[in-house]
Amino acid sequence: MSLQSYYDVVIIGGGLAGLSAAIHLRKYDFNILLIEKNDYPKHKVCGEYISSEVLPYLNYLDIDVFALGAKNITKFEVSTIQNKLISADLPLGGFGISRYALDYALYSKAKENGVVIVQDTVGDVQFIQDEFKVSTKNNGQFCSKIVIGSYGKRTNLDVKLNRKFIKNKSPYLAVKTHVKGSFPEDLVALHNFEGGYCGISKVEDDSINLCYITNFEAFKKYKDIDEFQEKVLFKNVYLKSIFENTTPVFEAPLTISQISFDRKSPVEQHMLMCGDSAGMIHPLCGNGMSMALRSAQIASELIIDYLNKKITSRDVLEASYQKAWNNAFQNRLKVGHVVANLFNNSTLSEISLRMLKIMPFLVPLIIKQTHGKPMSIK
Ligand SMILES: Cc1cc2nc3c(=O)[nH]c(=O)nc-3n(C[C@H](O)[C@H](O)[C@H](O)COP(=O)(O)OP(=O)(O)OC[C@H]3O[C@@H](n4cnc5c(N)ncnc54)[C@H](O)[C@@H]3O)c2cc1C
Repeated sequence: MSLQSYYDVVIIGGGLAGLSAAIHLRKYDFNILLIEKNDYPKHKVCGEYISSEVLPYLNYLDIDVFALGAKNITKFEVSTIQNKLISADLPLGGFGISRYALDYALYSKAKENGVVIVQDTVGDVQFIQDEFKVSTKNNGQFCSKIVIGSYGKRTNLDVKLNRKFIKNKSPYLAVKTHVKGSFPEDLVALHNFEGGYCGISKVEDDSINLCYITNFEAFKKYKDIDEFQEKVLFKNVYLKSIFENTTPVFEAPLTISQISFDRKSPVEQHMLMCGDSAGMIHPLCGNGMSMALRSAQIASELIIDYLNKKITSRDVLEASYQKAWNNAFQNRLKVGHVVANLFNNSTLSEISLRMLKIMPFLVPLIIKQTHGKPMSIK
């Protein structure tokens, strides 16, 4: 499809949320433009464990993660700073696949199905006379009936749109690497250290994903990542063993900073926000990718009804999305905040995890509260 200036839907950001919405909407023959600032495939900082609740939807989008080599994960373990280990079965289970592979599969499917994909950075969005005008860094100008904002955690556009959360401090940073070595492929582990936690699971090429998040205050006392790992992470014996008995696949770990878990709005200046742009759950819940896919599904279904005139006004479209988003995610976000606050406090997390060691049957119940049910298809 050639580049034109008017589209039914412009999607800003081609991560999981943007790409899945693009594929979904193309199934209904709408003309879709997706603008993504980076190229594909690309590694991203992410724990790469996805809850199985998304499998019916990925199937609907014609993505077979197991054909791509995803590892089926059924077991969970968590260790405390004091090296107490708790193990449990995952209630629904999940799978391990790299963002390199998953985003690329979605991108290829979107292209194959006729989504127009442009590599550029969106710099501004205006809503004038019931129409969007989207401008990019390379002087692209595109108009559309609908804009989906699926540009992730935090970007230049949030500043431009003057979103509330962008003014607050975001003190978290994250580090991710892939390593080779021995680790059970049906396990996702969450090992705590002073000031943070590290997720571990295998992905499609047998690499082990090591991804940790910590606050900047804890990190800045050390010279570099190596010293931080050695002095802080390695106090957890499970982390020490994994880091010391594996070999890195990446030349250097990937890092991101300024991660914020503040409340955002799922509708922003008439754009429907999906994925992390609408709100972010703490990574320790391992549910951000599912939320990205589910929010894309909710937005797409409503947009289809709006473009087919079953929803008769933009006000109704926006109110319906806001309501559906809150119904789907508010509870898991709240539980996620409570769990993360417990983990942030070393005394409280130690007490809670010791209680869970005595009552391990509570672990799957807590996990259920931070996850959704298997996604149903209309
Ligand atoms: C440390 C860490 C670990 C995590 N681990 C897990 C986990 O194990 N399991 C899980 O389910 N979730 C996890 N998450 C959450 C998960 O990574 C996110 O929820 C998910 O990536 C959200 O997808 P998205 O499509 O909203 O955003 P993204 O995947 O971030 O995609 C946004 C895209 O928008 C593009 N973009 C940004 N600005 C612009 C612009 N102005 N113009 C054009 N393009 C733009 C970006 O390049 C990017 O490709 C983790 C998050 C963190 C930080």
